[in-house]
This record gives sequence, C-alpha cells and structure tokens, in this order.
Amino acid sequence: MKPTISIIAPVYNEEPVLAELHRRVRQVMEQTSESWELLLINDGSRDQSAAVIAQLHAEDERVRGISFSRNFGFQIAVTAGLDHAQGEAIILTDADLQDPPELYPAMIEKWREGYDVVYGVRDSRKGETWFKKATALAFYRLIRRITDIDIPLDTGDFRLMDRRVVEAIRQMPERNRFLRGMVPWVGYRQTGVSYERAARYDGESKFNSVRRMLPFAIDAITSFSYVPLQLATYMGFVMAALSGLAILAVIYLRLFSTNVELAGQATTLVAVLFLGGVQLISLGIIGEYLGRIYDEVKKRPLYLIDRTWGIEKGATHQRNERSR
Ligand code: UDP
Ligand code: MG
Repeated sequence: MKPTISIIAPVYNEEPVLAELHRRVRQVMEQTSESWELLLINDGSRDQSAAVIAQLHAEDERVRGISFSRNFGFQIAVTAGLDHAQGEAIILTDADLQDPPELYPAMIEKWREGYDVVYGVRDSRKGETWFKKATALAFYRLIRRITDIDIPLDTGDFRLMDRRVVEAIRQMPERNRFLRGMVPWVGYRQTGVSYERAARYDGESKFNSVRRMLPFAIDAITSFSYVPLQLATYMGFVMAALSGLAILAVIYLRLFSTNVELAGQATTLVAVLFLGGVQLISLGIIGEYLGRIYDEVKKRPLYLIDRTWGIEKGATHQRNERSR
C-alpha cells in the first residue's frame, strides 16, 4: 500500500537529529489518520547518519532511505526525494527540526481543501545570525525584481506539494536546480500557512558562510533571469552615449577654445581601465551562463545512489547499486 503523505528530508551530517526527527514526525502523523512515509536522503554524510537511517528503517518500515555515493548538495538530494516518494502529497522539510512537524496537519488540511502547494511561511527566525537574515532579505528582494516568477517572501523549502506539482518538477531536467523558483513556476493553486521557525535541534547549519550561500544565489539568478546578460548591453549603450558627448566636447574645444590643455594621460588611463573592468565583468557574466549551458549539455546523471533502505529494486532506474 502506498502511503498518502511522503515526508522528505535531505540529510547531510545529521546523525544527532534523525531519531528525534522520526519521533516527532511519528507523533504528529499518528494524530492524523493519514498513512505516511519518512524518506531520508543521505547526501554523502561523513558521520554515522547512514547507520542511523538503517536502524530507523529496521525499527519502523515507514522510514525509507537513500544514500548517495557522495555529497551532491541540497537541491539534488531533494530531487532524489521527489523521484522516490510514493505519496499523493509530499512534504519537504529540513532534517534538523527547524521546520516543526506540528505544522503538517495544517498543511494537509489546506491540501485537502484543494491547494496544490502549501508553503510554510516563517513568522520569525530563531537562532539565525543578523547577517543571514539581512542577506536573505536582500536576496529575495533582488530575485523578485529581476525575475518573472513570484517567490513568496519569508518562505524556505518547507512546503507541501501535490503529486501533480511533483510530477511537473520531475519533468524539469535542469542540473542547476533552484526549487524555490521551480515550484512557483509550476503554478496551480498555491497558498501558505505561517509558523515560527525553530532553532536547529542539534548540529550545525551547512549554509552559514558566504562561500556556501553565494553559489546558491548565483544559481537562483541564472536559472530564472537574463537580466545579468542584458547588463552588458545597457552598459554598452551608456558608454557609447557618454563617448559620443565626449567627442563633441573635444571637437568644440579644439575648434573654438585656445587656452584649454586637452586630455591628460591620467584621463586616458582611467577611461581605459574602467572599460577594461566593465568588459571583464561582462565576460564573467557570460561565462556563468556558458558554464551552466555546458553542464546541461553534458547530461550527466543528477546523482548516484550507493544504497537504499525500503526502496524497491528497479525503482531507482540505476544499475550502480550493490546487491548486498
Ligand atoms: N543538506 C544536504 N546537503 C548539503 C547541505 C545540507 O542535504 O550539502 C541538508 C541538511 O542536512 C538539512 C538541510 O539540507 O537537512 C538544510 O541544511 P541546514 O539546516 O544546514 O541549513 P539552514 O537551515 O541553516 O539553512
Ligand atoms: Mg536548518
């Protein structure tokens, strides 16, 4: 029997939180009358997360698991979850209990009312630095300005999705996956329920440095906007207009003015360096898009599975699994 609700949690070095996650999810789901599964995607953890998943699966077969061959990143782990979830509705959550399972019943209720996507909207963010809050705010403002898609403010990846939304997302084969943009792109009926985002139950955040967050932001922008590519065009027009004015000014001064010393070396140097900078930045932006096109063209598999728990053979479309 397929469960009605699949709860998907990506797992990267979350050994200390998994048992508690299972306990809380079970507690909440047993109060609803829905059948459910908890699908844990082990994204190449270096701690004992895999062993904990194996043990949870042995104790409760509603816990199912997939282990990747290495770390493929959050977006890919979620993708594997969507590929293997069996439920009619899928709830996507962090493994660290920042997204409270206690919200599931409200989400499920909205889904039963006929909504296809139910976002968790955060009222407040506990245990997060002001730097993370400020950069997140700036980032979502920017994204709203330069893309067509309407990413709801103050939402993370915590959400419920109907099967048809999941199937739509599974039809998007792109490698640079920005789910927070892909889900609004799908459309259908979307709504939100608000909650208080808790602090992490245990362990440490994996997205707490600029080094981890910047690639995420660039992926988001390049997947949904051409505005950076157009910047070079705009800059080109501005520079052309300015130089047109400068040419007129120089001609005027040459013809009608006798006591003006024209053009110092410094002016020339500054103009050349400035334009050199603009050109390099434009090239870099083109490079960002080009590299992504190259990734798409290579068509490598999105992820490789090392082993699974409770996933039927053949359901993974892969032959790299060992039979042990
Ligand atoms: N995660 C993952 N792969 C990664 C990094 C993170 O699967 O490469 C998982 C992590 O285990 C957690 C979720 O993604 O379940 C969100 O990560 P985290 O809680 O560290 O981020 P934050 O909530 O602080 O933004
Ligand atoms: Mg978290």
